[in-house]
Amino acid sequence: MNDNSIFKEKTPLILIVDDVVKNLQVLGTILSKQNYKIAAANNGEQAIKIANNTLPDLILLDIMMPGISGFEVCSRLKKDPRTKDISIIFLTAKIEPEDIVKGFEAGGVDYVIKPFNSIELLARVKTHLELKISRDLLKTKNEQLRELAITDSMTGLYNHRYIVDSLSERIAEAKRYKQSLSVAMLDIDYFKKVNDNHGNLFGDFVLIRISTIIEESIRKTDIAGRYGGEEYLIIFTNTDKKSAFNTLERIRKSIEKEKWDKGDLVVTISGGLSELEDEDYSKLIKKADNLLYKAKENGRNRNEM
Ligand code: GH3
Ligand code: MG
Ligand code: MG
Repeated sequence: MNDNSIFKEKTPLILIVDDVVKNLQVLGTILSKQNYKIAAANNGEQAIKIANNTLPDLILLDIMMPGISGFEVCSRLKKDPRTKDISIIFLTAKIEPEDIVKGFEAGGVDYVIKPFNSIELLARVKTHLELKISRDLLKTKNEQLRELAITDSMTGLYNHRYIVDSLSERIAEAKRYKQSLSVAMLDIDYFKKVNDNHGNLFGDFVLIRISTIIEESIRKTDIAGRYGGEEYLIIFTNTDKKSAFNTLERIRKSIEKEKWDKGDLVVTISGGLSELEDEDYSKLIKKADNLLYKAKENGRNRNEM
């Protein structure tokens, strides 16, 4: 039955919960024949524990059980971000319309009344599993797309748009919490010559290696991005320019010392560093850019602040 379905991507795991062991056995037998993976619990506490540990795709949940009820199990799982996306089908002898409504309100996706017809049950299980697994796939794809949208594909650093957006956000935060913030604009020196002498492919390699050096030199709370061709922007959160300058100097020296396997080639970088006063992001970048220009004028392979 699963041949043409999205279950090929992943064998679905179903957690069955019932306080009557005989019911668990019957359900387990029916579901196992469909090649689903099965986990079982005979009370609410255990169901929550197993759900947390195994993150099943679907739960078939009895309502009336000693201890916490199925409704309660469902509500608790729906409140936890880790388990909230698990589909829950209530499986119960309760047939009052109020109970059915209560089941949906607790976050259930369906309701099957015992004694059930196994063909109908399997059809519902299959439908809800398919929905759940497509939702999961969509979520993963969206996360991947978001990652792609904010990343510079060559260097793996954040891209221009993301770094500029982040700067606006960080400036707002710095102003709100009265914290310092510094911004550095870096530009590789005579990079055109590197390309001309060693080829564009090697030029790309240099860009990537320098990205790694920058990433490894900054803190987790700082953000580095590729601002343009051979330009990098670094946002130093909660950092005044004096201490950001030390980091910039470390980056500059690491790059200068890097061995490139091209004779005695030395690649250097220049940087301009500005600290937030009262300006917006574009003026702050402009300040850093002007200082970068000064570093170039003053001989390159240097930082200015
Ligand atoms: P300066 O010290 O004044 O910055 O000199 P420069 O040669 O680095 O500056 P210029 O702006 O004249 O040249 C930048 C070069 O960077 C030209 C461009 O082809 C190269 N470049 C930009 N992006 C890439 C890229 O993605 N890969 C490679 N290989 N080169 C790139
Ligand atoms: Mg340059
Ligand atoms: Mg440039």
